[in-house]
Amino acid sequence: MAKTALYEYPAELREEFEATEDIHFRDGSRATAADVWHFMTEIGPKRYPFAYTQKKYAGSRLSRDIHLPSAIKNHYLLLTMNDRINKSRENGAPVIFVQGGQSVDPYYAAGGIALRPASVGLWARGRHEGLGLNEEAIRSRNQREKANHAISFEACQTAGYANIQEDDLPVDMVAPFTCLRCSDISYGVEAHRHGPNKAVKLMNIDYPMRHQADKPWAVEYFARNLRRLTSEIGKRAGREVTDDDLTKEIKLHNEGRRLAIDTAELWWSADLPPTNGVDRRALYQMGGMEIHGDPSASLTVLRESNAYIRERVKRGIKAEGVVDKPIRLFVCGSCVFPNDFRIEEAGAIIVGQDNHWSDISTLVAEEGDPYQNLAHAILSYPYEQSIEKRAEWTIEQLKKSRADGVLFLYQWGCNTQSAIARMLCDTIKRDSGIPTMIIEQHEGGSEQSEQLLNRVNAFIEML
Ligand code: SF4
Repeated sequence: MAKTALYEYPAELREEFEATEDIHFRDGSRATAADVWHFMTEIGPKRYPFAYTQKKYAGSRLSRDIHLPSAIKNHYLLLTMNDRINKSRENGAPVIFVQGGQSVDPYYAAGGIALRPASVGLWARGRHEGLGLNEEAIRSRNQREKANHAISFEACQTAGYANIQEDDLPVDMVAPFTCLRCSDISYGVEAHRHGPNKAVKLMNIDYPMRHQADKPWAVEYFARNLRRLTSEIGKRAGREVTDDDLTKEIKLHNEGRRLAIDTAELWWSADLPPTNGVDRRALYQMGGMEIHGDPSASLTVLRESNAYIRERVKRGIKAEGVVDKPIRLFVCGSCVFPNDFRIEEAGAIIVGQDNHWSDISTLVAEEGDPYQNLAHAILSYPYEQSIEKRAEWTIEQLKKSRADGVLFLYQWGCNTQSAIARMLCDTIKRDSGIPTMIIEQHEGGSEQSEQLLNRVNAFIEML
């Protein structure tokens, strides 16, 4: 059978790329742009051919916006996840499995590495080299299947379980905030209790609900939980965690959050979209500083990219593959993204999402007790508030991003988001007049189902 051709970065780009900035890692090491170029052009295609497969609609496809350094550097950080996390663990940093949509300041302050399900999946993926696109898709589906058997057919994104419990991915702790947003995390934590891997320490950071940020006892209670968390991680990392450690970490993460907000506002203000949807999402996520398992690395790439976006907006440069006046979609819900390449081909673009943006755009106070400050900020995440309040915040984001329509997407098995979707969308429509559409997806894959995309494209046509 003929082999599928792999994508090759144009050799003439090398000089321009090698003049860009180094990536600085948390342990003090760095990767020069020449190191990144060497990995992405020589090593990556051999170790991870699935990422280079020339399939037009593959969700894992490398960004072709090759003059934007963050597009290449983001993929470099994703593809080197296994090498980097293993090295950090060998140097004594415990790895903690957390939930998506939560800030990770306390985990890093205590000397750990916080990985949400997607990042644990990236780490696990990096341990299987030489796989093509289809082989990699089958491997990842098998992981989900194993986890569905062990947990529940109702759980949606469960590969964290299979990787940690059945394939010995060396995660040290499972310790998420138990925010309401994700029913899977509750199933998952309980499943880890009866899984075969007894070396994993379990801990819940209990999250009070209902006007939680306005109740002093709730803030105090959550702050105490955060202290318990940093102390447990500190024991594993072999250090005592001081209040100063947390304050320092909050300041660092606030820099990422501020940069993400600034980048988003620049992007939203532009007449012509300065990046495609895939790169836009990667940039905003870097402000949360958790996707790559190394906040310093994410921050250096985001700092550099912010300057590029500013320049593109100033000079009216439009990203390749995007039409001049695309229909602007805002995605609500959780853990489902329609294929950006297909959406852009249909004349639209995704301009933002509520999930993750809720925590990335929540700044933490820097003066006073850092645990109280962090607890107050975390309990204020707009995504975790009452439906009316969440809708109010979402409408603000819709206005800032100049969205034409809202897509509310969730996975089969996402109990909270499926229950909230109708009421949230009705409130948004009533108070803003912006059209909405709700779609439930069966478990996602790198290419996603035609059904989902047909319905999204029909919505784009209607808009
Ligand atoms: S789709 Fe819902 S239940 Fe599943 S991981 Fe995401 S938030 Fe959790």
